[in-house]
Parts: sequence; structure tokens; C-alpha cells
Amino acid sequence: MAKRYGNYIGGAWKDAASGRTFDNRNPADTSELIGSFADSGPEDVERAIACAREAYPRWKALPAPKRGEILYRAAEILVKRKEDFSRDMTREMGKVLDETRGDVQEAIDMTYYMAGEGRRQFGQTTPSEMPDKFQMSVRQPIGIAGLITPWNFPMAIPSWKMMPALILGNTVVIKPATDTPLSVVNLIEALEQAGLPKGVVNMVTGSGSSVGSPLMSHKDVGMVSFTGSTEVGRRVSEACAPAFKHCHLEMGGKNIIMVMDDARLDLAVEGALWGGFGTTGQRCTAASRVAVHEKVYKEFLDRFSAGAKGLRVGNGLEPKSQVGPCVNTSQLETVERYVQIGKDEGARLVAGGSRLGKGDHARGYFHEPTVFADCSPKMRVAYEEIFGPVVSVIPVKSLEQAIEVGNSVDYGLSASIYTQDIGKAFTAMREMYTGIFYVNAPTIGAETHLPFGGTKNTGNGHREACVQALEVFSEWKSIYIDFSGKLQRAQID
Ligand code: NAD
Repeated sequence: MAKRYGNYIGGAWKDAASGRTFDNRNPADTSELIGSFADSGPEDVERAIACAREAYPRWKALPAPKRGEILYRAAEILVKRKEDFSRDMTREMGKVLDETRGDVQEAIDMTYYMAGEGRRQFGQTTPSEMPDKFQMSVRQPIGIAGLITPWNFPMAIPSWKMMPALILGNTVVIKPATDTPLSVVNLIEALEQAGLPKGVVNMVTGSGSSVGSPLMSHKDVGMVSFTGSTEVGRRVSEACAPAFKHCHLEMGGKNIIMVMDDARLDLAVEGALWGGFGTTGQRCTAASRVAVHEKVYKEFLDRFSAGAKGLRVGNGLEPKSQVGPCVNTSQLETVERYVQIGKDEGARLVAGGSRLGKGDHARGYFHEPTVFADCSPKMRVAYEEIFGPVVSVIPVKSLEQAIEVGNSVDYGLSASIYTQDIGKAFTAMREMYTGIFYVNAPTIGAETHLPFGGTKNTGNGHREACVQALEVFSEWKSIYIDFSGKLQRAQID
């Protein structure tokens, strides 16, 4: 009998008010039921917000270094439970064990990092233009943070939002993706064991329309931090606009690797395989486009397509697997649809192209790593986000053309260049209008202590991680203290 998981509201695990549940199944083997989770509605969101509201004054009043100590203990618990939590994540999301270990590690890194921010959160002190007057700026929390998260980084992304929100003194209501609620349950258990007071973090599971929507529109939620598709992000933005609610959006990507004629091709091929097919291509930073200089195009393509054909697709818990399944049937169908679109557009299929449905793959959402060659930049496979194991290779004549192709999409998350020429590397670094850039590495591999996010349709100007995350979850207050004993008028006296 699979375990039943409730919502976490006011420090207690509770069924949805309706009593309804939904099943969470292993995408590598859908006969395996991971658990049944609360299929919640607006009334559950209301209760969670009420608890977050009640807990807020005490949490806000707790000195930030003390809040940091709780986070530090939570990180220690995550370290101890890392292997269990990674295995749970592979079972519910599908990516291979090495990658889910990386996901949990990212949550550990972020939790330690933000624990440290409990003793920083630096503001400014500046001289006044007046005598006997002191001035400074301090951060203040916003109140209740509503967090809506996707399934591809089931623990890392919730931690990127939760930990900065908490260290600044906000309370939290989180809605995890319906495909990966267990990883958020595990993260919350670590916080609970670390001594997080009741009501400070609340979790409500369920669909976007019945949980995400009431959460983001609720008058008592001071800010919403969302990661997911650009389409849903636009709705979040619209829901937040009438009340001028703070809104932080991390959305889609169509990232490019540029391979120059002087590149080390062994490195470029290895990087493109990892960037394109790691996490089954289901990363917002996945290298779904590779622009290759015509002088090395054939050689790169031969080696890259051979590499893609050689990748072992299978259950992520099997040590030999290199690429796991798509997360669900709709994601698999999207991949199949785009493969057909690519063929219809005249892109040349040089590796993969089919669903895998026999033998070990019979009960999962597996698809072959797929490579389209000779793509033009405006073909839909080379232009739109697919979020699956499909890479489009585009021939280019120069660095300038590669940059033009790179910048031609609606997204601006990550880009990379393979070259031995420092001038080319610096030119591309300057000219690519993205939030992240790599040299001689693929488009994936961000670390928690640099800002994370993108331009154009990828984001709305905020950054996750690093100290930039503190900007998202706090407001500045500037404070002027006049001890002159008389009225002093700024700009006038
Ligand atoms: P999604 O937009 O379908 O869902 C994201 C979250 O929003 C889920 O929790 C979902 O239940 C919720 N949601 C859906 N409809 C909603 C609604 N009407 N109101 C409120 N909430 C709603 O995205 P996904 O399929 O979970 O994730 C894939 C997408 O996420 C891709 O586009 C990917 O690029 C993006 N992503 C971006 C980043 C980044 O940092 N830029 C990171 C990871 C994933």
C-alpha cells in the first residue's frame, strides 16, 4: 500500500479538506506508485495562508542569526538524508541518481548559504548632508511569500526560494509541482526536524488552477515567486499586477552552445551531449541548440550524433543509465510532436527520433536522444522550447552569425562558447543578451553563489540565488535619525 501524504499546514500534516488525493507515479515505471498526495483546493490554501499570517510576527521578530541556526541544522539533516532523498527524487521525477544527488546537493548548498546570510543582510550607512544626523538602510521582510515551483529541480528550486524567504523573516506557503511533491515533503521534514516553528512554512499540494491560482491572487500574500513555463508565468504576472504584488518569475529557455572552428571538439561534443541530454533535456538551461562553424560542422556532427546514439536510456536508479524518462505522458507527447514538426520542416534527423516502448522501457515515458542537423534558426525545433531530449544543430559561417542566431530567440537564459581564442570568448560574453554565460563548458552548471536567471521571456528582471535572492524576498527601508535637537530641512537648510 503506497503512503498517503497530506498538506503541511500550521506544523501538522493534514488531508485536503475535500479528502481527495492524486497519485504520484514513477515515470520510469508507471506501475510503481510513489504515494498519494492531497488534491487540495482554495479552502486548503486559505488555511495555509491563515497559519502563515499567524506565524509571521514571531518569526519576523526572531533575530536573523537565530533563523540562520535553524537553516544550518536543516542543511545538516539534508546532508545526512541525501541518499534517501535523491532516490525518492529519481523515483518521482525520473532523472538519473547522479543528477538527483546534485539536486539535493544544490538544496544543501543553498540552505548553508542562506544560513550564513542570517549574519549578513548588510545595509548601508552613509553620511548625511546635515550635522548631527545619522542614516542607514535595512532590509525588512515582505510578509507571506507564495512559492510555485516546477518538477525538473524538485528540491533545488523550492530551496532557492524558501531559504532566502525564511532567512529574511518571511513566512511561506509553497505549492510544489504535481509531478514531484515528495521532494518538497522531504525538504520540509528537514526544516521541521531542525526546529522550524509551526506555521512558518506551509505546503499545499494540488493543481495549478485549484491551488496555484488562489495562492497567487490572495490579498494576504505579499509576494509570489514562480518558476515554470513562460505561459503560466504571464498569468502569475497578471494576477499580481492589480495589487502591485511583488512578482518574481523564472521561465523558459532556448539555450545555445556556439562551437567555433578553433574549438577543442572533444570538449565541445562532450559538453553538448551533457548540456543537451542531461536531465533528458528537461532543464530550463538545456543546450537545445548548437551553432557550429562550417569548417568543423561535419566532424562535430558525426561525433555528436554518434555520442547521442550511444547514450544509455533507462531507469535512473540503474547505475548504467545515462538518460532517464520524460517526466510524464504530456511531456513525452510534446517531444514526439516536435520531432514530427522537425521532420515536416525539413530538418535532417541524424540520431534518435522515436519513443522507446519495449522491454525495460515498456512502462515508462522514454524517448531516444534526438539530433536534428542542418537546421535554420527559425525552424520551430530550433526556436521554441521543447523541454525534452531534442537538440537542433545549426551551421554558421562566423562568430558574428553565431551570436546573431543565439540572440534571435524570445528567451535569454544561458549560452556558451567553445573556442581557444580569448578574443572570441570575450566578444561572445559581451554580446550575448542572456543571464548566464559559459566559456568552454555547456549551458548548464550554475552554482548557488552567483545570480541565476534570464532576460527577455525568461524572466522579469529579478535573479535567484546569491545575495540577489535577498532583493526578491525583502524591501529596503531607509532610516534617518536626527540628534541635532532642531528641525533640519534636507535640500533647504
Ligand atoms: P508549468 O508552468 O506548467 O508549471 C509550473 C508550476 O506552476 C507548477 O507548480 C504548476 O502546477 C503551476 N501552475 C500551472 N498552471 C497554473 C496556474 N494557472 N496558476 C498557478 N499555477 C499554475 O511548468 P513545468 O512544466 O512545471 O516546468 C517546465 C517549465 O519550467 C519550462 O518552461 C522550463 O523552462 C521552466 N523552468 C524555468 C527555470 C528557470 O529558472 N528559468 C527553471 C526550471 C524550469
